[in-house]
Amino acid sequence: MALNTLQDLLVEELKDTYSSETQIAKALPKMAQAATSPQLKAAFEKHLVETQNQVKRLETIFQQLGESPEGNDCEATEGLVKEGEELMGEQADPQVLDAGLIAAAQKVEHYEIASYGTLATWATELGHTQIADLLKQTLNEEKTTDEALTALAESRINSAAE
Ligand code: FE
Ligand code: FE
Ligand code: FE
Repeated sequence: MALNTLQDLLVEELKDTYSSETQIAKALPKMAQAATSPQLKAAFEKHLVETQNQVKRLETIFQQLGESPEGNDCEATEGLVKEGEELMGEQADPQVLDAGLIAAAQKVEHYEIASYGTLATWATELGHTQIADLLKQTLNEEKTTDEALTALAESRINSAAE
């Protein structure tokens, strides 16, 4: 697709983000299963529910724009998910694996924070106020998740892995 306008770029990046979220929705149950800490499992399960809702939010946005969500696979998420799968395939001490799972998840959240921050700015610039609000809701969920993972890493999980 030719990118002639900022609107074209917005749609292209929304498609990438839709691909990203659907991949994350598939990966989170595996990460919850691989986690040992009950708090970490709970954090992944909570974010799975949020992620499913984020997918729906994006579908609402595509409807409002009259565009299809399909057509741009997110290769960055593919890579990040693959790294997580590699980690889960290792023989690892449970606490060490938890520390690794947090790191893998935070890489995904940081990618999402960058994506949604950009998308919200472009939507605002283009006058799509409602769409920008939806994108900011998701952005806040990603930030809150990232902070919750940092808190888990700093509390007991990292000290247990030492
Ligand atoms: Fe997300
Ligand atoms: Fe991407
Ligand atoms: Fe997320």
